[in-house]
Amino acid sequence: MSSPRTVTCPNCATKNRVAPRAEGIPRCAVCHHALPWIVDSDASSFDGDVQASVPVLVDFWAPWCGPCRMVSPAVERLAGVLAGRLKVVKLDVDTAPDIAGRFNVQGIPLLVLLRDGQEVDRRVGAQPEPALRAWLEPLAGPPVPETPEAPASSAAQA
Ligand SMILES: [Zn+2]
Repeated sequence: MSSPRTVTCPNCATKNRVAPRAEGIPRCAVCHHALPWIVDSDASSFDGDVQASVPVLVDFWAPWCGPCRMVSPAVERLAGVLAGRLKVVKLDVDTAPDIAGRFNVQGIPLLVLLRDGQEVDRRVGAQPEPALRAWLEPLAGPPVPETPEAPASSAAQA
C-alpha cells in the first residue's frame, strides 16, 4: 500500500499529511496553498496512484541504482516547484516487475509523464535538475491560484 507522506507547506511551513489519492490537488490545511504531491507507490496501488486531475510523473527507481539517488531528490524538489501542477509517483521496479514490463522499462532511472493515464513523454537516465525542470514545466498542469475559488469549490472540502 502507498502511505501518506508528511510534507512541509512551502507557504506557511505547516506540516501536512498528503494522501496518495485525492480529489483535485492536495492543499495545506492552514493556508490552502498547493502542496508538493509525492507518492511512494507499489504494485498493488500503482494503477490508482497514477490517477489524478494533474499530469503524473512516474519515477521508476531501485535501491541499488546509483543514478536514481541523484535523480530522485531533484524530482522531489520539482514536485515542490510544481506543486499543484504535477503529481509524482515513485515506484521501486524490483517490487513491481509486471508494471516495469508494461512500461517497457529497459533501464533506470526512468521518468515517464502520464496525462489521464496515457504516456505523454519519457526521459531515460540521470539528468540534471535544470534539464528536468525545463522538460516538465511545459508538460505540467496550469499554474494554480494561491487559494481555491472559495464558494464554488467549498462543497468538495471536508
Ligand atoms: Zn500552508
